[in-house]
Amino acid sequence: MTQILDGKLLAQTMQGEIAAQVAELTETLGIRPGLAAVLVGDNPASQVYVRNKRKACDQAGIQSWLHQLPADTTQPDLLHLIAQLNTDPQVSGILVQLPLPIGIDESAIIDAVAPLKDVDGFGPQSLGLLTAGTPRFLPCTPFGVQQILVRNNIRVEGQHVVIVGRSNIVGKPLALLLMQKGEGGNATVTVCHSKTPDIAALTKQADIVVVAIGQARFLKKDMIRPGAVVVDVGINRTPDGKLVGDVDFDGVKEIASAITPVPGGIGPMTITMLLHNTLRAAILQHAV
Ligand code: NAP
Repeated sequence: MTQILDGKLLAQTMQGEIAAQVAELTETLGIRPGLAAVLVGDNPASQVYVRNKRKACDQAGIQSWLHQLPADTTQPDLLHLIAQLNTDPQVSGILVQLPLPIGIDESAIIDAVAPLKDVDGFGPQSLGLLTAGTPRFLPCTPFGVQQILVRNNIRVEGQHVVIVGRSNIVGKPLALLLMQKGEGGNATVTVCHSKTPDIAALTKQADIVVVAIGQARFLKKDMIRPGAVVVDVGINRTPDGKLVGDVDFDGVKEIASAITPVPGGIGPMTITMLLHNTLRAAILQHAV
């Protein structure tokens, strides 16, 4: 029978573990981790994401602040806010919700976040450390993908993982993470993208397929081999308002050995790893 990899349930368990660690940190050292969320403009999806992240912080005992700025905020204004948050001792982590409005250079904003507060793991220092095999903050979605596999006892070591999508926030860092030496790594990784000629020929060879492209129900049953593990990162809204992933869940589930659902798969894991990183940031800053 196909195993449904329940990200919602695992996220609850892991968030409970994080809450216990936060309580201990506060009790023993008087440190309360805090996350500053920066939201520019009125993108409805971004508003929901930020609300869910702050709710999870609250439940784990992590303080959170929302800096909501209008869509016509200038890049210097945003950089000024980031500079303030960088030096605020109460702020352990800074989350700048993407995408930012047109006219603001996202990479300039990401680069401006202090490396020890880069809890999204998107900054050059975080990515450089991951590439060097000595990670500090792992990007939350790839980290969530790895954890859902590891915590469900799905072997990654020695497996052929095919990742569809090469974005800086999902596909690329996930490849680095799963090919690292050590637990949860040691995979052989292939990365596909929009210029890959025959994606199905590659996904059919995979022990584990991860899809992160933002194309509703892209991966079909005939694109995997029976018994493969399938991880769906995509979040897409169909014309009738339904939330679906990048995998044709009903078809693929018939032959996969394990599969993540959408919703309730990688989404809640991403939030959990943000909490993990914020706790870690508070500990690291205390040690400096
Ligand atoms: P992105 O920045 O738009 O990147 C999409 C990637 O997919 C690109 O590398 C692109 O290739 C590739 N691609 C697009 N269409 C393709 C096709 N038909 N065949 C092969 N490759 C294709 O997207 P992202 O930010 O990585 O997000 C991907 C999906 O994951 C979205 O649905 C997003 O909402 C979701 N997401 C979910 C979470 C979560 O917490 N669950 C977090 C982040 C993102 P090129 O590089 O060649 O253009």
